[in-house]
Formats: sequence, structure tokens, C-alpha cells
Amino acid sequence: MSRKSLLITGASAGIGAACARLAATRGYDLVLTYNSDRAGAEAVARQTRAAGAETTLHQLDVAEPDAIAALFADIAHLDGLINNAGIVAPSARLTEMDHARLRRMFDVNVIGAMLVAKEAVLRMGKGGVIVNVSSAAARLGSGNQYVDYAASKAAIDTFTKGLSDEMAGDGIRVISVRPGIIDTGIHAKGGEPDRADRLAPAVPMRRKGDAAEVAQAVLWLLSDHASYVTGTTLDVTGGR
Ligand code: NDP
Repeated sequence: MSRKSLLITGASAGIGAACARLAATRGYDLVLTYNSDRAGAEAVARQTRAAGAETTLHQLDVAEPDAIAALFADIAHLDGLINNAGIVAPSARLTEMDHARLRRMFDVNVIGAMLVAKEAVLRMGKGGVIVNVSSAAARLGSGNQYVDYAASKAAIDTFTKGLSDEMAGDGIRVISVRPGIIDTGIHAKGGEPDRADRLAPAVPMRRKGDAAEVAQAVLWLLSDHASYVTGTTLDVTGGR
């Protein structure tokens, strides 16, 4: 059976990297992107190639439309997209957030993801799957932490529903996954390296999640086992 082609943005670390490693064992050839962590991305690519996946690596800041266009100039066909690249910013109240912070949050988490999805559906023909990586923050709101991030992920959930309605007739499914407190480097990037451990006791399952657990959900959604699932969100939150 021929291998399917899958693009994963933000595959140099965390959830994107875990998805890449699992996808390589599930018959996908991979186009992986990273933004700043080339060494991390190369390490992931070594693992996916060792697992049998043809893998290409591209640097991409999803906030740069020209960079998105350049990436897709090299991609003729796609079967799947994991729209995963995303950022947080340090905890703050809205009254402490300036325009530059809000602009960057939405350029990366929303507009970047929408432009990547646009180029992906243009290369899917009749059939394909997009999994947008949202967050439980989309329904929790993240007051006193980062309402900008939460609002950006809520936008992704609404975008997921709308795009799924647009593409269902073409056999393209669009779903968003909402991770909860997952043990990745994103918390340190937001200035709180101990955030996942600190919040773990408040999770109904009393623990943080692992990126590999999110990857299992994402790869199920990409698979034909989820053939009647579209236009919806799946929480991977330990009940949070
Ligand atoms: P990480 O910080 O570990 O990984 C983020 C990835 O996104 C990296 O590969 C990074 O690239 C890439 N990235 C960051 N900024 C850009 C950009 N401007 N353009 C392109 N790529 C970029 O985070 P996670 O794995 O935790 O996060 C992955 C997704 O999951 C995000 O969308 C996040 O919002 C979401 N999520 C995470 C949760 C968690 O608890 N961890 C909870 C809910 C949602 P590089 O390192 O090369 O710069």
C-alpha cells in the first residue's frame, strides 16, 4: 500500500514531534516544519526516517505569509495536515497586554493556521484530513493567565467547524483537538517551567498529559477509523 503524505507544522518539539514519531509508524511520509529549533527538528526527522517515513524538513514561521507560500511551492499533494504550530506568552491580565503581543498571538495561532489550512486543502483534491491543534483554553477562557491565547484557540475551533462545512463535499474532514495540561516545553516558553506540575493536581485525572497521548488522538482522527468524524472538537485533557 502506498504511504500517505502528511504535513505537520511545529514538529521540532512537544506535541508536533510526538505526532511525527507516531505518524511515521502509521504509514505516513512526512513534511515537517520548525521555526527556531533546527536541531530539535533534525532529531525528530532522524527518528521518523528510522521508522521508515520519507521525511523532509522546512523552516517556517507561520506568521510569514511568504514563507507559507514558499513551503507549499514544494508540495504537490497532501493527504493530511496537523496544524500544530502555536505559541503562548507570559501570564498577564488583558490590561497588561499591548497591541504587539495580541498581533503576534493571532498572526501565529490563527492567521498562520488558516493560511496553512488553505494551502493544504488546495492540495488534497477529493479526500484528506486536517487536524487543528486547539486547546482546552478555548472553553476555559484562561482569565488571569492569557485570554489572548484562549481567544486565539476559540477562533481555531470556530474555523474548524466552518472549514469542515465547506470541505465535507470534497471528502475532506476537519477536526480540532483540544489538549489540556500537556508536559511540553511550551510552559517554559511562557515563563512558567513548572506550570504543568503545578496544575496537575487540579486535573480530574490528577496528572499532566504526555504529548504521546495527544498524538494517539490526533492519529486516530487522521485515520479511516474516524471516517464519520468532522466539524467537531476532541478534548484530550484528563477530564479538565
Ligand atoms: P512546544 O513549544 O513544545 O512546540 C511548539 C512548536 O511550534 C515548535 O515546533 C515550534 O517551533 C513551533 N512554533 C512556534 N512558533 C512558531 C511559528 N511562529 N511558526 C511556526 N512554528 C512555530 O509546544 P506544544 O507542543 O506544547 O504545543 C503544540 C500545540 O499544542 C500548540 O498549538 C499549543 O498551543 C497546543 N497546546 C499545548 C498544550 C500544552 O499543555 N502543551 C495545551 C493545549 C494546546 P520551534 O521550536 O522550532 O521554534
